[in-house]
Amino acid sequence: MAAAVVEIPLSQLLEEARAYEKRVPLEGTLETTYRCNLNCVHCYVNQPAASAGERARELPLERLKQLIDEIAEEGCLDLLLTGGEVLLRPDFAELYLHAVRAGLRVTVFTNGTMVTVTSNDPLFAGVNLPPQPGRGQAQIITTKTLVIYGTGRNGQDNPPQLYAVDQATGKQVGAVKIPSRTTAMPMTFLHQGRQYIVFATGAGANTLLVALRLPGK
Ligand code: SF4
Repeated sequence: MAAAVVEIPLSQLLEEARAYEKRVPLEGTLETTYRCNLNCVHCYVNQPAASAGERARELPLERLKQLIDEIAEEGCLDLLLTGGEVLLRPDFAELYLHAVRAGLRVTVFTNGTMVTVTSNDPLFAGVNLPPQPGRGQAQIITTKTLVIYGTGRNGQDNPPQLYAVDQATGKQVGAVKIPSRTTAMPMTFLHQGRQYIVFATGAGANTLLVALRLPGK
């Protein structure tokens, strides 16, 4: 994955800012359930995990998928899936993949207690995601086909790199050296027919925004 470091033009940043004036819903949150397998004292979305009544009150999968399609159509870029504990929903994998395939950058809020290392879900058949030691607290973006992330905070990769992984197989399909470890979630956009990936490195006075241009005509 060859790439060159380029500056982000001010005009481009201003164009993005105009999205707020146009009231484009750039970010959204879907609260998928009020149930949780924990019961933290400060929480207001901690209905019992096994409650059939609470489950019946939740929006069905098809309605959630419709909402995702609608917000993607309106220009949404970032979607947060949360609960309660979103992994209690038996249809979570389908919901998540639907959002990713709609081109949204998806964040999942979970307490992590239900995360398993492997999955027998047919949606993940053929996907092999081995541990990636040394890459630190990587933060990812997704396109319709790729997962992209850089060596994150505390990463031991030397040199730090930006990686691209095929969503369908879990296979790493590209890697390119970057100036420093990433410290914030990357973003990607098209500008004049070229695709860019932008991410932040450093902290405080040493913060940088780095833009990589993907190869193309
Ligand atoms: S884990 Fe989160 S959702 Fe569950 S009870 Fe605690 S704060 Fe609430």
